[in-house]
Amino acid sequence: MTDRAQEKYPEIREAMRALCAQFPPEYHRRMDQERRYPEEFVRALTGAGFLAAMIPVAYGGTGLGLAEASVILEEINRSGANSGACHGQMYNMGTLLRHGSEEQRQRYLPRIASGELRLQSMAVTEPTTGTDTTSIRTAAVRRGDRYVVNGQKVWISRVQHSDLMILLARTASPAQGATKSDGLSVFIVDLKESLGRGLSVRPIANMVNQESCELFFEDLEVPAANLIGSEGQGFRCILDGLNAERTLIAAECIGDGYWFIGRATRYANQRVVFDRPIGKNQGVQFPIAEAYIEVEAANLMRFKACALFDAHQPCGAEANMAKYLAAKASWEAANVCLQTHGGFGFATEYDIERKFRETRLYQVAPVSTNMIFAYVAEHVLGLPRSF
Ligand SMILES: Cc1cc2nc3c(=O)[nH]c(=O)nc-3n(C[C@H](O)[C@H](O)[C@H](O)COP(=O)(O)OP(=O)(O)OC[C@H]3O[C@@H](n4cnc5c(N)ncnc54)[C@H](O)[C@@H]3O)c2cc1C
Repeated sequence: MTDRAQEKYPEIREAMRALCAQFPPEYHRRMDQERRYPEEFVRALTGAGFLAAMIPVAYGGTGLGLAEASVILEEINRSGANSGACHGQMYNMGTLLRHGSEEQRQRYLPRIASGELRLQSMAVTEPTTGTDTTSIRTAAVRRGDRYVVNGQKVWISRVQHSDLMILLARTASPAQGATKSDGLSVFIVDLKESLGRGLSVRPIANMVNQESCELFFEDLEVPAANLIGSEGQGFRCILDGLNAERTLIAAECIGDGYWFIGRATRYANQRVVFDRPIGKNQGVQFPIAEAYIEVEAANLMRFKACALFDAHQPCGAEANMAKYLAAKASWEAANVCLQTHGGFGFATEYDIERKFRETRLYQVAPVSTNMIFAYVAEHVLGLPRSF
């Protein structure tokens, strides 16, 4: 594999490797088996300032870019852990930072940076509209100095482990001639204040250890001061966050890909069957080599997307393509790793079956593969919109 000393951002990687080494595979395995939130791990990351990487120094963070943040999450996954427990904070705070008022930034960002508050959740998906985001029905109606929210969301992650949540809701029907995204608004919701006062939460048992919930809004009151950006223009406010999210998830998949390839290579060199290491067979080594090539290629697109995002340039195409390539490469690497291990790949103590489940998610969330094809077909290639 690439000499690790040659990789970009060696200081961040070294610090992350030291922190992750304090949480051995047994820890993450136990969290998965018990379906527990890795509270100790997230606390250690917060305490070391890693989750405040993208918060500017002026607000108490370290003021790094998406590239550095992506290396942090890559290293988490590369260590055998799963960034799903904490990645939300990295991209959700971008909505606040880039579109919130100075008063909102001052109110929240320093406390997020210090770890006093967590902004781990973003509520977009709804049960009846799914991928068709701009058709969402959760409504926020202005009444004096408050908005009253009614509706439902589904698959909203980390709600029970976060203090704050970014909420996308409809505040008006699209104006005549406007796009469907017109009339959507973004709010910052104080989860602790809202639970039991108009917001109820039901966790969804699922294939991976990611706490994800159904949310029910019944006359939830959100202060008007919590509106981020202009009313009706919220979709634009979350777009930056979505591009950051896709790029960061690409980095996590790349971390997974290297983890799978590392494991497969080691086992293929050690496991002797028919009096020779299984890795001596081309039928075993070629799929590992192919998976490695694909992870390396995805990595280039990931850093291209990061560079554009950090330069405040349009990066929708690159963020989507990085996410597509990396999720595909990590899934192929997962499959190869499992196959290389034969029956032992299925044994929980090898961690492969856990990582296999975890990396599979990224072909579906936060954006499914077909939606990436649709984006590239329409926005990059100029083909007709297909839906
Ligand atoms: C573990 C987990 C965590 C999640 N966390 C969050 C979160 O924190 N916040 C949040 O807002 N959401 C979250 N999601 C939701 C996730 O973003 C959605 O599941 C995803 O965007 C797909 O939407 P859907 O499940 O409604 O699928 P659907 O929209 O019902 O689509 C089903 C399938 O049909 C395909 N499809 C649909 N329409 C078309 C079309 N026109 N052309 C081609 N193919 C099409 C899709 O690609 C998909 O494969 C999470 C999901 C999971 C599983």
